[in-house]
Amino acid sequence: MAKKTPKSHAAFRRAKQTLVGGVNSPVRAFAAVGSEPITIASARAAHITDVDGNDYVDYVGSFGPLIVGHAHRQVVDAISAQVSCGTSYGAPSEPETLLAEQIVSAIDSAEKVRFVSSGTEAAMTAVRLARGVTGRDKIIKCAGCYHGHMDGLLVSAGSGATTLGVPSSPGVPAGTVSDTLLVNYNDLPAVAQTLAENAGQVAAMLVEPVAGNMGVIPPDEGYLAGLRLLCDEHGTLLIFDEVMTGFRVAHGGAQALYGVRPDLTVLGKIIGGGMPVGAVAGPARIMDQLAPLGPIYQAGTLSGNPVAMAAGLATLDLLAAEGFYEQLELKSAILEAGLRQASDKAGMGGAVCLNRVGSMLCCFFAEAPVNDYAAATAANTDAFAAYFRSMLDDGIYLPPSQFEAIFISAAHSDADLSATITAAESAMKAAASLM
Ligand code: PMP
Repeated sequence: MAKKTPKSHAAFRRAKQTLVGGVNSPVRAFAAVGSEPITIASARAAHITDVDGNDYVDYVGSFGPLIVGHAHRQVVDAISAQVSCGTSYGAPSEPETLLAEQIVSAIDSAEKVRFVSSGTEAAMTAVRLARGVTGRDKIIKCAGCYHGHMDGLLVSAGSGATTLGVPSSPGVPAGTVSDTLLVNYNDLPAVAQTLAENAGQVAAMLVEPVAGNMGVIPPDEGYLAGLRLLCDEHGTLLIFDEVMTGFRVAHGGAQALYGVRPDLTVLGKIIGGGMPVGAVAGPARIMDQLAPLGPIYQAGTLSGNPVAMAAGLATLDLLAAEGFYEQLELKSAILEAGLRQASDKAGMGGAVCLNRVGSMLCCFFAEAPVNDYAAATAANTDAFAAYFRSMLDDGIYLPPSQFEAIFISAAHSDADLSATITAAESAMKAAASLM
């Protein structure tokens, strides 16, 4: 049954007076699901509560950072302890080193780290670094992959840019974008051809090793290894954008899961435990080209912010617990199996494609396989919207777009998962009527 949300409605109406579209990031506006956002008052574990007091099982998890759930006691305590010692110094502090050490020990390809304040900034820094060390200007990106909203990467971007049907954006100079070469995800021959046609000019190939911004699309077998070989052949750096996958699909990220070593890794989300953060990591020979050791400039007033570092450290500490990822995989597999059953019961078996890598999951209202941007955007977004609204009415908060990932956290209980599967049965039926 639809929840009563008069306070959310009033809060959103008020927000729209002063915030653009009432939000600070476009996907939150619920435009893609023909609905109005709820306004959140608080969150704990796998649940969020809106300003009207309605409770929801949350699968957004702040779009990925909250792998241990909301307001985990250890994370909250670490943040509080740091806040009482000051929130920002503009000078070195030990939590920065401690978090860098954790990242270097978890991620094989990382020897040095530079922290920034968002994934966008981290991707931007990685691209600048790649261009600086190679002396080349061009970069390759995949259609439907999202790397933040830096000008040169806002070409055929996924996430909100797809949700809103804006393949690129006004305000992005044609000159900036002319150095961005596009290929299809999972299309190795296209990368080979693009590298050959631009021999000696491509600084980097930037890719989400598991695409998570056009729904969830796993890499085909051999795709990432193939990229590694091609990049080596052409003296092009391979950058994995692990903002979403880092510490999520495995402790060592997608590069550990698939056994492929990138030159640079872009991180964000989980490493900040819900606080604003991003990072670039890689071998010292590349990373040391950044200022102050090298000539490639990059800086930030709040970079390595001690409160964000404390939240990240506490989160990574929880992830290091024995069996953490095995248990998360178990929960995720239970949810996947339950959603498959729900779609079968609704007679949707052949019309729904469930893609999952670890605790990232996506339910496409499309026939399998969905393995690139074209297949993802061919999905039935009206059916998704109906599914989304029905789930929300039943107290299940999903990402408000077909092109975002569901994130399962360690805080999702058996009861949360079975409530979700039960709700999915009627939501699938609501979607089926639109297929
Ligand atoms: N890269 C990827 C893979 C992402 O998923 C995102 C955000 N969802 C970004 C970069 C940008 O990160 P931020 O929103 O922190 O700028």
